[in-house]
Amino acid sequence: MKLFARDALLPTGWARDIVIDIAGNGDIRAVDVAFATPADAERVQGALVPGMPNVHSHAFQRALAGLTERGGPRADNFWTWRTEMYRFLERIGPDEQEAIATQLYLEMLRAGYTSVGEFHYLHHDPAGRPYANPAEMAERIRAAAATTGIRLTLLPVFYAHSDFGGASPLPAQRRFIHDTESFRALFGALARQPGETLGIAPHSLRAVAPAELAELRELALAREERTPIHIHAAEQRREVDDCTAWSGLPPVQWLLDNTDVDERWCVVHATHMEAKEARGLAATGAVAGLCPTTEADLGDGVFPAAGYRAARGRIGIGGDSHVGVDPLLELRLVEAAQRLALEKRNVLARDGESSGLVLYQAALSGGAQALAQPVGAIAVGRRADLLVLDCDDPALAEQAPANLLDAAIFGPARHVVRDVMVAGRWVIGEGHHADEEAVLTRYRQTMKRLLA
Ligand code: ZN
Repeated sequence: MKLFARDALLPTGWARDIVIDIAGNGDIRAVDVAFATPADAERVQGALVPGMPNVHSHAFQRALAGLTERGGPRADNFWTWRTEMYRFLERIGPDEQEAIATQLYLEMLRAGYTSVGEFHYLHHDPAGRPYANPAEMAERIRAAAATTGIRLTLLPVFYAHSDFGGASPLPAQRRFIHDTESFRALFGALARQPGETLGIAPHSLRAVAPAELAELRELALAREERTPIHIHAAEQRREVDDCTAWSGLPPVQWLLDNTDVDERWCVVHATHMEAKEARGLAATGAVAGLCPTTEADLGDGVFPAAGYRAARGRIGIGGDSHVGVDPLLELRLVEAAQRLALEKRNVLARDGESSGLVLYQAALSGGAQALAQPVGAIAVGRRADLLVLDCDDPALAEQAPANLLDAAIFGPARHVVRDVMVAGRWVIGEGHHADEEAVLTRYRQTMKRLLA
């Protein structure tokens, strides 16, 4: 098929009158300038931009949004939230997992995410025993992706300990726990499916001992396919203090000194870094997986984006706990946190650059890298994951193309994504998905049970 766009965002910037030729397998075969609309091309109803990768998701947490926002007698923080989250997940079985993830992935597509990295750690039944199929919960994630059409990078999580130094897991963590042998079996069973990327996720330095981390790394390196490695690090100050007490180093520095962090790695959060760590992480070519709405919700802190980006550090954005399902909002918050912390404006752009364009392009390329998917650009050989921005939305109306992403990200609009294509197939048309009613019905029934 061919698409014609009056305005399209190419790797070199905005371009006019672009024809995109998409092969039967969903890859972009050619990108050309047209002097007139080709007769065999479908004209898109707005400005065309690449779909956004979402690098960090815990799908079941979508159902917890809005349930942890009350003050209590004691100081509320990340750790009290985690206790509530552990209590909530006791009720999530395979059917709940699938219903919630399907609703979430549909919301992601409507918002402009076309691929997702699912950091999947809810492996076992509520008693902590493997399901008859140990990959049952992962298969439900796959089913959700298949139903909605979003492309998946499945990141099975290795989780073995409750704290630094190999501490025994807590009873509330029993559904997450593997040893390296049972994890190898799971990982083997999840062998790559067509259209999907399989990665590996050592949960954090709290939950994974150094020898285990080395073994997981070997497991990733042994595969023929490029296998991304995702890890949480330095989200909370307490974690930084505990890591320093254990090893003498904060988490990101520990990773830099003790593993071969490189372009395969996505370090999720990396919120609390000294300037030297930020420069060190930037130099590895790894992606920092920023999840600003969740980080704001949990009181994590502010990522040192200015210094990190000045050192050419790569970023992706993630929905994490899904208190926000909107790439434009995540990008706005990346910049907004810098403005609030530094009391400056347009911190991440320079020399007349558009902040919206700089942020969007950075998250596209970092996201594609972190998910190891051939996406993130309208270019030959990339997958046709595309969004049509609605230029009739009041927030975008009459804006010049060069200003569209600034208006979309920093303006008041929240519904500017009109149509969404994944791998050459339209999955959202005029804001709607073909299965949205059935998906919502199932989600509501699930929430009714969970909230009863
Ligand atoms: Zn996370």
